[in-house]
Amino acid sequence: MMRTQLGRAVSVAAVLWAFIAVAEAPARGLAELGAGARAHVRVTDWARSNGFDVTWLRRGEALRIGNGTVALVLRDGSRAVELDGVKVWLSYPVSIRADAAFVSALDMETAIEPILFPRKNSRALAIVALDPGHGGKDKGYHKGAHQEKKYTLSLARELRSELERAGLRVVLTREADVNVGLAARTAIARRRGAQLFVSLHFNSTAVGAQSVRGAEVYCLTPVGGRSTNSRRSGSERDPGSRFNDESVLAAFHIQRALVKRLGMEDRGVRRAQFEVLRTAAMPAVLVEAGFMSHPVEGAKLRDASFRRELAKAIAAGIMEYKRVTEGRAARNRSESS
Ligand SMILES: [Zn+2]
Repeated sequence: MMRTQLGRAVSVAAVLWAFIAVAEAPARGLAELGAGARAHVRVTDWARSNGFDVTWLRRGEALRIGNGTVALVLRDGSRAVELDGVKVWLSYPVSIRADAAFVSALDMETAIEPILFPRKNSRALAIVALDPGHGGKDKGYHKGAHQEKKYTLSLARELRSELERAGLRVVLTREADVNVGLAARTAIARRRGAQLFVSLHFNSTAVGAQSVRGAEVYCLTPVGGRSTNSRRSGSERDPGSRFNDESVLAAFHIQRALVKRLGMEDRGVRRAQFEVLRTAAMPAVLVEAGFMSHPVEGAKLRDASFRRELAKAIAAGIMEYKRVTEGRAARNRSESS
């Protein structure tokens, strides 16, 4: 099995690197050493052993791995890969040399494989916590009467209706315009038995506000990996780190739905050390459902009927996550490897 081979590759490198790193920084724990940075998987071999075809889009620069059902596109030097046409950010860049492509074992294990080969859950997804970002004196992004905290609550209510219609139970971390602490939000989700935590936000930027738009879905930085927008590493001390595989899978399906159903610009599945992701005792994602600071996208987000479309897309992503984590056989994974 691939997982065993990868595990072995990681542990050998971990030992080697631990030897070097311990001498340099004795205070750091083994898990923080980021063994995956040094251990690489030769993607062409990995593809063949999993029954995927390998096609060079541009020899030495870009290749496509697929089997008719899924496609993974890798580009030399890029930290983002495309999985079924959706951007997924890795901790380390892809490296292509001559006839071979390499991905860090850490990225293979914490990003690519959990999406391609979803782990099946014995308990089907039944209860979802929705977390409308900000509230009370924390307005989030605001420009005049347009306040992020209002739109996140309105989106959460729409999304609750969609999910309840689909047969799920929904918990909201706030029902009104009140300020709730970040750790209190995940505590509410835990108390109410939520199996998935979805924090809802809208984005903004001061630099390039006229051009920057699109959807982003975050999940926790994997242990030893790197955040997308900073150098912060994931830590095994965070409760959320235990749910990496489910979290990245949920983030992928929500991002996919936003991009494919609504045609939003794809800013990718990203990694961050956000407080709600770190403290969630369950799979958790944070959705940035478009840029309030963009003149066109911002105007759409202020429109209730567009927010209903957003809710439908996010609900579809959650239901797809539910579907792929149910049942017995893992899809796509070759039985013989
Ligand atoms: Zn926000």
